[in-house]
Amino acid sequence: MQKILNCIGGEMKAPVSGDYFETVDPSTGKAYALVPDSDERDLELAVKAAQAALPLWKKLDRAAALHRLADLMEERRADFARAECIDNGRPLAACDSINVMRGIANLRFFAGLALETEKFGNSGLESYTLHQPIGIAGVISPWNLPLLLFTWKFAPALAAGNCVIAKPSEITPMTAFMLSELVNEAGFPAGAFSVLHGKGAKIGAALVAHPDVPVLSFTGGTATGIGLYTAAAQRLKKVSLELGGKNPTIVFDDAKGAVQGALAAAFSNQGQICLCGSRLLVQQGIYESFKKEFVAAAEAIKIGDPLLPETQHGATVSKEHMEKVLGYIDLARKEGGRVLTGGGRVTVEGRCKEGYFIAPTVIEGLSAACRTNQEEIFGPVVTLMPFKDEDEAIALANGTQYGLAASVWTEDRARADRMAARLESGIVWLNCWNMRDLATPFGGVKQSGVGREGGRRALEFFTEEKTVTRVA
Ligand code: ADP
Repeated sequence: MQKILNCIGGEMKAPVSGDYFETVDPSTGKAYALVPDSDERDLELAVKAAQAALPLWKKLDRAAALHRLADLMEERRADFARAECIDNGRPLAACDSINVMRGIANLRFFAGLALETEKFGNSGLESYTLHQPIGIAGVISPWNLPLLLFTWKFAPALAAGNCVIAKPSEITPMTAFMLSELVNEAGFPAGAFSVLHGKGAKIGAALVAHPDVPVLSFTGGTATGIGLYTAAAQRLKKVSLELGGKNPTIVFDDAKGAVQGALAAAFSNQGQICLCGSRLLVQQGIYESFKKEFVAAAEAIKIGDPLLPETQHGATVSKEHMEKVLGYIDLARKEGGRVLTGGGRVTVEGRCKEGYFIAPTVIEGLSAACRTNQEEIFGPVVTLMPFKDEDEAIALANGTQYGLAASVWTEDRARADRMAARLESGIVWLNCWNMRDLATPFGGVKQSGVGREGGRRALEFFTEEKTVTRVA
């Protein structure tokens, strides 16, 4: 079985312990690679390598290095897409066009900003501000969009002049491993960018606690994020947290194109995107007709082997996660929900017989306050609720502990803007879902996160401002 390796100080290394655990292809249920079970000793090597690399990395043309890495990824685009598909279960076409290409775009975008940061630091005023790298940045990324969220975190940290120690999710380590094999060829100094694989509670927690890693960027579940924030507070680390969501899709009776929009919001990546619209609020006048169309559209989604081009809906990332999602569907039934379509595991014949597939599931008849409507399920499950007017839509939309994203569907521009202003949410989409210019800020409110990343905000996060004043 293929062995994944850590990338430390420019070398691909086995973990010091020599221990590995298996990672599974969720579309077949079979283990297909071994992941290093890294610990503090591997981290110590990465920290030493990063400390040695920092002075050089700060001075180098980092934009060129990031562009070269992007070029190398692009040359191997098809390999990355296939590896991501096998590791994560997302259909191949989406792995290619979104996970891989958007990952490459992250590198190029932040390479562009790297040049600007250099300029910030060179002002010749009597009193001026330097934007300087912080030192070693720890980045911890999740399994749902493995390559995209990995690049999204490390590219700005490197562009800003930090060295990076990254910990990808142990559930989907393959594309981070493949990328780490390219960093020497891209011209990164040894130690500027290390990748450590292993368990969150072990190597992840060690990275969070390490005294020489003063800045941490994390994307993952809210409970894990709260634990990380608490641990990081012991050393007053700078922390950015992108956490869960329970996002509303709000459809008014004059909306156009909302069925397909709400469908993409609910079921993209098998519902495993923190931005997914898992609560579908529909104005009461069109509720019944919308429901009929939406359920028919959900039933038309093609479930299957994620490697096949016609597949629209692949596997859920792991057995454990599939069971968690199925548990929520059972809970919804107990809470009085009516399952309109889906509601269980699906068998895909052939290669994927043992895979972790769940049918797109639509549930109605639940109270707004029940657990199904309050907790993040992170699977292909959406609840339908009617609302009367703007006030009721806002009350329902804002009535959870989360505040990541919302989408509003209406042809009335003034109403759309009123809703955008009133929604407790870091991101609002009007008549669209999950469209984002890389230059715009990204992040959540309430239990969905702390801080903003994206565009300049990411560079600001990964730098310290220093005010320098000279007496003339
Ligand atoms: P989920 O979305 O399934 O809840 P997590 O939030 O647990 O996933 O995982 C997101 C990332 O955080 C992964 O890379 C995981 O290994 C890491 N992680 C999990 N627990 C910890 C921890 N205690 N400290 C640091 N990182 C962790």
